[in-house]
Amino acid sequence: MFDTLSDRLTSALQTLSRKGRLSDADIDATAREIRIALLEADVALPVVKEFIARIKERAKGAEVSQALNPAQQVIKIVNEELVGILGGETRRLNLAKNPPSVIMLAGLQGAGKTTLAGKLAMWLKKQGHAPMLVACDLQRPNAVTQLQVVGERAGVTTFAPEPGNGVGDPVDVARRAIEEAKHAQHDIVVVDTAGRLGVDEELMKQAADIRDAVSPDEILFVVDAMIGQDAVTTAEAFRDGVGFTGVVLTKLDGDARGGAALSVREVTGQPILFASNGEKLEDFDTFHPDRMASRILGMGDVMTLIEQAEQHFDQEQAEKAAEKLSSGQLTLEDFLEQMLAVRKMGPIGNLLGMLPGAGQMKDQLAQVDDKHLDKLQAIIRGMTPAERDDPKLINGSRRLRIANGSGVAVRDVNDLVNRFFEARKMMAQMAGRFGF
Ligand code: GDP
Repeated sequence: MFDTLSDRLTSALQTLSRKGRLSDADIDATAREIRIALLEADVALPVVKEFIARIKERAKGAEVSQALNPAQQVIKIVNEELVGILGGETRRLNLAKNPPSVIMLAGLQGAGKTTLAGKLAMWLKKQGHAPMLVACDLQRPNAVTQLQVVGERAGVTTFAPEPGNGVGDPVDVARRAIEEAKHAQHDIVVVDTAGRLGVDEELMKQAADIRDAVSPDEILFVVDAMIGQDAVTTAEAFRDGVGFTGVVLTKLDGDARGGAALSVREVTGQPILFASNGEKLEDFDTFHPDRMASRILGMGDVMTLIEQAEQHFDQEQAEKAAEKLSSGQLTLEDFLEQMLAVRKMGPIGNLLGMLPGAGQMKDQLAQVDDKHLDKLQAIIRGMTPAERDDPKLINGSRRLRIANGSGVAVRDVNDLVNRFFEARKMMAQMAGRFGF
């Protein structure tokens, strides 16, 4: 996701960094590159035009800054504008003063609503809520069972019409669910509704009827980020047919070009609240426009990495890691500690992808699998504390000893040490290049 966009934007901006002063022609040339990058990423044309106009205007009128060189100023402007089109501030869920709060999910079939219901339920539960899922998708065969299954996996109650009661009326199910939630002290109700393969009137009417029956505190429009430009037309249809208060982007882990993420909020005026990036219930998080912009610009998403780390490390350790990451002073000992904790957090490729410069390490990242990590772990365990602290000590004879001790080839030890130095150097360079 965003790889191509990220690569192109980074290279457009990198060209600038070789220049001492920027002429209007330089800015126009960069704006042209950015425009192509956005169009290729499938961002809607009106959004691209508006974005480029703002960049040009701000870059040409930029105040001379003591702290930033011209290229850094343009990067700063592009970053701020990207944050802007992604929604600016992080938008949190609106919950009712008097529980239960009602969150209704709407979107096309296959958008990922049912999966999202489970993800949301698990996420809410972790925040100390007692959510209940409601099965109002009575059209699609198996939709009710599928919701019950994700509910079970998330460890929450699912309210569904009794089997054998005919197809049932989703509006009636929704109403009864709210009563049940009050009775059973659930403070949040997540209503899954039916989707169709395309937008149709009956679908809209049913969603609107459910909306009128349960007065949701949030209506979340769930959209598959892989559908590109269609995301915008679908979003407009749902905005006009049912209305929504927020957007959830799903399948951000897929091979999408990212245009949907950059267009939907700008076109509909509604914020993106959450992002889903995998089929597992844990692959889900609050959407932070600033962090996403930073990732698109190849500046990494160290904040998210740190937050995930905090759930598994103690505070002191997490702060130490963050500091060392950004100052490029990581030792192999830190690396091993991180690796052990990090492995609990999910597929390693996803996590490494959040590091600054990860876009440029794509090929290496693709090779990182968990078996490979077992090997790295064994090699680092075979080193003395002094060697882990200062890997420069590891000369030829030490490499042989480490290889023999950990049951790998000397080549593997060389590989680890070299890559470690490379990564550390690159992080320091990234920090320098962007002036952060
Ligand atoms: P619904 O018809 O809107 O309820 O969609 P589902 O929740 O049934 O999802 C449709 C398909 O997309 C299922 O195969 C899900 O496993 C898959 N899916 C949902 N969310 C994601 C995601 O974030 N990433 C990926 N890769 N697959 C997803």
